[in-house]
Amino acid sequence: MSVTVRFAPSPTGFLHIGNARPALLNWLFALRHGGRFVLRYDDTDRERSTQAFADAISGDLAWLGIAPHESFRQSERIATYDAAAETLKAAGLLYPCYETAEELERRRSRARALGRPPVYDRAGLKLTDAERAALEAEGRKPHWRFLLPNHDGDPFETRRTERSWNDLCRGPQSVDLASLSDPVLIRADGSYLYTLPSIVDDIASGITHVIRGEDHVANTAVQLAIFEALDAEPPVFAHHNLLTTVSGEGLSKRKGALSLRSLREAGFEPMAVASLAVLSGTRHAIEPAESLAALADMVELADTSRSAAKFNPEDLEPLNARLVHGLPYGAVAERLEAMGVTGDAAAREAFWEAARANCATVGEAARWWRAVSDPQALPVDPEDADYLALAAETLPEEPFDSATWSAWTSDLKARTGRKGRALFLPLRKALTGETSGPDMAALLPLIGRRNSVARLS
Ligand code: GLU
Repeated sequence: MSVTVRFAPSPTGFLHIGNARPALLNWLFALRHGGRFVLRYDDTDRERSTQAFADAISGDLAWLGIAPHESFRQSERIATYDAAAETLKAAGLLYPCYETAEELERRRSRARALGRPPVYDRAGLKLTDAERAALEAEGRKPHWRFLLPNHDGDPFETRRTERSWNDLCRGPQSVDLASLSDPVLIRADGSYLYTLPSIVDDIASGITHVIRGEDHVANTAVQLAIFEALDAEPPVFAHHNLLTTVSGEGLSKRKGALSLRSLREAGFEPMAVASLAVLSGTRHAIEPAESLAALADMVELADTSRSAAKFNPEDLEPLNARLVHGLPYGAVAERLEAMGVTGDAAAREAFWEAARANCATVGEAARWWRAVSDPQALPVDPEDADYLALAAETLPEEPFDSATWSAWTSDLKARTGRKGRALFLPLRKALTGETSGPDMAALLPLIGRRNSVARLS
């Protein structure tokens, strides 16, 4: 079967760089295997899910370069989950329980005090029809638990039942189903917890590989058992390490600053964010990949390490700068145009090539464009006034090329005996309104003779 993966965010907030990791690991896996990528909105929590967040998620994925082959929302598929729940009920694998949260907590504390594992005792299974009717007459509504297959016919006699899988990130994994409580799949208000809808959808979408954060490792053995109960072949699982900041802090606290949207507004390139989100916590050094295809060739799921993927948000700036310094004109042409960079294509390209090494973000090119087209006039040092007048007089005739600057300044050096800063800085300040910046040999032809003379006088 061809590879099909999914990214399944809940539309209850903006994606942050930590969510970009599973989104990208799924997308890169699909790219590498010529597979499909499904975007599934896990929006069964109707109170917290919003359309605005769903739209923001698809916009952020598009910004990263992820183009889902299909997308859907779980809230449209409740009838399908109901049908699966009925199948499980009919097989005796989904049973009603009536304990309140407080009752369950009391039982867990008692078990802990007695040194027993706080596993649910399946009391709900023992209820007779009459007892159930009496509880419902009191107004109690049942929640529904899945009966784990950890017994030989008598659910009150559990036995060690290993469920194993070969995790593409973590290697062989095994969990004893007898050590777990039967999971609640349906709440007392009739709403579904994440587990059953996720499995039903993974089956319906033909998901071959579930790639997600390691916070879901603990759910996997239970999910394998539910796939079996629904008579479906389970997917291959891969649980990657989670991004944390260097201090080990999870990303939820820093979400605002590290949301994809705020990173994009701060001028970071999607490939800088993608490189950091994917390469942190892998055996690969962190460097900017030029495209998602290149990133897909750099790392495999097995390259993720077992410890947290610590990263420093401050690494994003140098990473972005490295990426920008290497961006070809074609990658920024539209953005330069939107910034008001004018001239023929060759001049615009020459401008970008001169400016990019001085830009930590593409947006900073605007500053250098101002320096070329409309510099801020800086006060002239009185002792430089004659020098600048001489420079204006001796400026070569056009056409200018990359050798003009050197010919002009060599001549000025010979005439005035100035050298180094004294020779170059007054010219740079007068011509660009800046005291440092891109190579003047490249800028002078862009400024042109008429503007140069005007700025020198
Ligand atoms: N909505 C779930 C989450 O965001 C999806 C988990 C999964 O990939 O199975 O945690």
